[in-house]
Amino acid sequence: MPIPDSTIEEIERRIDIVEVVSRYVVLQRRGNRYLGLCPFHSEKTPSFSVSPDRNAFYCFGCQKGGSVFSFLMEVDGLSFPEAVEQLAQQAGVALPERGVASEHDAVAKRRAALKELYRRVAGSFCHILENSSKAAAAREYLQRRAIEPALRERFGIGYSPDSPNWLYHFLRGKGYSCAFLAETGLFTSRNPERSLFQGRIIFPIRNPRGDVVGFGGRSIDGRDPKYLNSPESPMFTKRELLFGLDVAKESVRRERRVFVVEGYTDVLACHAAGVNNVVAPLGTAVTEHHTRLLRRLCDTVTLVFDSDTAGQEAARRAAMLLETAELKTAVCELPEGSDPAEIFEEGGSKELENRLSCSKDVFTFLVSRSLRRVDSGTPDGKEFAMKEVFPYIEAVRSEVKRDAYLRQFADTLGVELQSLVQDYQRRGAPRVHRASQDAPGEPAEVIITTDLFLMVAVVANRDQFTFVRRMLDIDDLRDKNAVTLFLALEESYRREERALELLIERIDSPDLRRVVVEKLSSDEFALNQERAVYDAVLNIKERSYRQQQREIESRLRRLGAGTVAGDDTQYQIDELLEQKMYLDKELNKLKVLIDDRFTE
Ligand code: ATP
Ligand code: MN
Repeated sequence: MPIPDSTIEEIERRIDIVEVVSRYVVLQRRGNRYLGLCPFHSEKTPSFSVSPDRNAFYCFGCQKGGSVFSFLMEVDGLSFPEAVEQLAQQAGVALPERGVASEHDAVAKRRAALKELYRRVAGSFCHILENSSKAAAAREYLQRRAIEPALRERFGIGYSPDSPNWLYHFLRGKGYSCAFLAETGLFTSRNPERSLFQGRIIFPIRNPRGDVVGFGGRSIDGRDPKYLNSPESPMFTKRELLFGLDVAKESVRRERRVFVVEGYTDVLACHAAGVNNVVAPLGTAVTEHHTRLLRRLCDTVTLVFDSDTAGQEAARRAAMLLETAELKTAVCELPEGSDPAEIFEEGGSKELENRLSCSKDVFTFLVSRSLRRVDSGTPDGKEFAMKEVFPYIEAVRSEVKRDAYLRQFADTLGVELQSLVQDYQRRGAPRVHRASQDAPGEPAEVIITTDLFLMVAVVANRDQFTFVRRMLDIDDLRDKNAVTLFLALEESYRREERALELLIERIDSPDLRRVVVEKLSSDEFALNQERAVYDAVLNIKERSYRQQQREIESRLRRLGAGTVAGDDTQYQIDELLEQKMYLDKELNKLKVLIDDRFTE
């Protein structure tokens, strides 16, 4: 439910931006502005300015700026509605009741009911773990892994009794209907009375605000699979959630750094060792959603990975995404075959703490890894190393930094900088998400990027295409497979064909065709994909606007770098500035939409 403009304005009128910012930054008055050290980048001379008359802040150093709301969003990692809520309270402005009759009403209600149920269920599982005789083995298991009661409480760890129907009867007894329970994701789809998580240790998965939105369950008796997660749903989107973020948020913000580990137990182990700024994806790779969440809270991400090939490859891909989001990245490599939980169980707090404090800058990591994998003395080896490292350099936004990386890389490879730069430019450096297609000798693997995910979802739900087509230009898509699908859909749309076969035939690449068919026949896209489509569209649009902004900025830099601007140059500069302003405006509109999603 969007907050009316008049309310926003009312809050802005009543709130003193200087007072709000002063809680975080020491400000000194200069005329009608206030100056201080920017909280968003490190600096020694103040370039952060607050203008109370315009109700705005701006940093001349890092160019961050905006309203009192964006200040709080940035500094506290709040969503727009959260920032509004906080300031409304301070200002004594009443916000309209959420969920006034609308078509979203039913959805919102269902979601609230589900959250309430999850909260209760999580509570019961906790209680059982700590008190029930049925959970003796589970307690022993956790004890053996040095997961103590205080830690269990912090994360709300529980145990789901090893009886197929216990949970069903328990919840029926509390008055929940069969129909409601069948849609909670707590029971198997084949038998709606049978608990999905029976006999498992339960890790509640909470959104950044601390609501339980799903569960992860670990078996303790060797039963397969080792981990089981709640099924994907509009409330439980694995690509967007990070385990532990609700608990870690404060300390991530304070330290301006976060550790990203692979598993639930790794998060717990780090906490046990006194490292609280740690999160884990839910068994997926790091996604753009994750980087977006983290960007709001910190500047540096330390990836903690197993040093086997899979772990390293995951780190490499994550590093590129993080670089695109302008987050500094470090890599902490653990001995092959081990993870933080094991290190903690075997070596204790000190050992884990030591490990975590040894991280490498990501570029050094990438270069040394690529050299380790090949014989860099040979031309082929050098070629391979370049293919590994160039995509990362391409993801770097700063030209100065890119330049420094190329130099460092040339030195390490023992080649002339000039020839390396030529190769770099000649390759037309591939985009981040195609990186893995560069591995030599492997068949062209189709990677499900955000773009491709979106387009497959649209193929599965054709009525979404009008929306996607209205929102996105083909140029917004980066992934050539997604472009192929977009064009195929466009063609079918124009001819008013509905048959899937015809659409499939328009896909040239057999690999892509296979993937699309596979995805369509799996359950993944059976549910209504409206929300997933909506989210993906917003993300892609945002990415595209940012890319365009970067291009404009670099053109502006080039134009401004010369001597005094002639008329012609000035004209070009003005035009670019105008485009930039337009993009800023569009981006802001988009941000409001994106933030609105977090309130649901
Ligand atoms: P433990 O320490 O309990 O053995 P782990 O974290 O070392 O667990 P991994 O196999 O490394 O286990 O898995 C890392 C993460 O991947 C898990 O925490 C979980 O989120 C996810 N995961 C692993 N296996 C599965 C699975 N079969 N289904 C869904 N998610 C899984
Ligand atoms: Mn482990």
